[in-house]
Amino acid sequence: MSVTRTRYAPSPTGDPHVGNIRSALFAWLFARSTGGVFAVRIEDTDQERRIPGSEERILDSLRWLGIEWDEGPDIGGPYGPYVQSQRLEGYGLAAEKLVELDAAYYCYCTPERLDAIRAAQQKRNVPTGYDRRCRNLSAEERAQEEAENGEHRVVRFKTPLSGRTTFTDVIRGDVSWENRLIDDFVILKSDGFPTYHLANVVDDVAMEITHVIRGDEWMSSAPRHAMIYEAFGYTPPVFAHLPLILGADRTKLSKRHGSVSLLDYRDEGFLPEAMLNFLALLGWSLDDKTTQMTRDELIAGFSLDRVSASPAMFDREKLEWLNGVYIREMVPETFVELARPYLDNGLPPGILRPLDDGLARQAAMLTQDRARVLSEMPELCDFFFTDDVSFPPTLIWAGMGDKAMKRMADADEDLWRVPLPDDAAVVHEWLNSAANAIEKIEPWNHESIETRLRALVEELGTSGRKLFGAVRVATTGRTAAPPLFVTLEAIGRERSAARTRAAATALLDTQLARS
Ligand code: GLU
Repeated sequence: MSVTRTRYAPSPTGDPHVGNIRSALFAWLFARSTGGVFAVRIEDTDQERRIPGSEERILDSLRWLGIEWDEGPDIGGPYGPYVQSQRLEGYGLAAEKLVELDAAYYCYCTPERLDAIRAAQQKRNVPTGYDRRCRNLSAEERAQEEAENGEHRVVRFKTPLSGRTTFTDVIRGDVSWENRLIDDFVILKSDGFPTYHLANVVDDVAMEITHVIRGDEWMSSAPRHAMIYEAFGYTPPVFAHLPLILGADRTKLSKRHGSVSLLDYRDEGFLPEAMLNFLALLGWSLDDKTTQMTRDELIAGFSLDRVSASPAMFDREKLEWLNGVYIREMVPETFVELARPYLDNGLPPGILRPLDDGLARQAAMLTQDRARVLSEMPELCDFFFTDDVSFPPTLIWAGMGDKAMKRMADADEDLWRVPLPDDAAVVHEWLNSAANAIEKIEPWNHESIETRLRALVEELGTSGRKLFGAVRVATTGRTAAPPLFVTLEAIGRERSAARTRAAATALLDTQLARS
């Protein structure tokens, strides 16, 4: 069997979109799973749409995910990608060859004339397209046009006027287009640059691509490509057009749905392994149940026949969940390292910097199993670093398990406006006693903190759930935080005691203010 060869052929026209990188991933997975070759080709022949820096961002996206390419121009180090603007000569020769084969012709129509045709077609409400005026010029007419309008000369493909163009897409099945619906499209522009259609086919032939795996939006270009292959007498590659990606509202994924740039996800703190896993499931599945797969498992399991023809849903919730799964599986030390810059940059400006290394380490370790995205880290553990843990006093009752308060807190209702419950004086006493006890705990570690606070539960005749819940809110400002005793250990004795006492005082103050 001959070796499979795939490619990813992005245009450097902006930030690489997740859908675009999904195409790269599927082409790469297919090459890897079949022991084939994967190449990257920058399609930059539309120089007007070129956005500086975008090529680098495309390659960075691939590198971040570990999608490595196997060949390309030798730039003295790892291979560069193929770049179309550096291969212009071949496209000009190919266009001439098509003219020789009577499959293409020179067209001299001026932009003004083309505009006028379009305007007239629009006025008559008929599909727009070139009227084929130059398709059958005599030799004399051509010579005259060459002299008068030579600078406007383009090469157009001579689309058959009747019949159908048919090709097979491994995902969609047989696809057939009526030729009369396709106009004589430009293949070489007046500046000598090829259009996408010509350059794409010429390069796929030159690179001996066996499988063209790309997004669904290129489906309508495929008949043109099939025609060019046929005109040259080349066997077309296998086409695989990947299903559309939809946002949560079932419309095509776009900026309206939030970020679509792959590198934004990197910067937000998604892990490359999780992103790779997630992207692979956008239109492909191993079976009906497997969601978590490593790179090697993806390579071993990938096949084009399990790519679905129906649209895939980009479910951010699922991505966050999956990322959380990968975060929990990380070696704590690695997680600490990854989380650190997010803490350094994301914690409020008032916090003393540089952060205390030991505290940052503990904070990260204690919140590792709660984080879904690294950028959540500052919010998840700010209380380790700041004593400003202000919260509505009634949140303490939510922390103690009071159902009504808990419901309101979960619904994000304004608890500041809720009056203190009748047992506020009792809870005030508990917190004061807890502060007194905490101040004296020796040695300061989670074991002795636990022993002392459990004893206090007995002394006060309350339950652990209530007392620990109250102390948790008092010291962290939230009802859900890492396990209490280790959290207090990390926060420190004096700070834990002071916060607990401050919460007790706040209860009294609030009560006094109301009475
Ligand atoms: N240059 C096209 C793009 O930007 C390539 C489409 C294809 O893979 O043929 O996606």
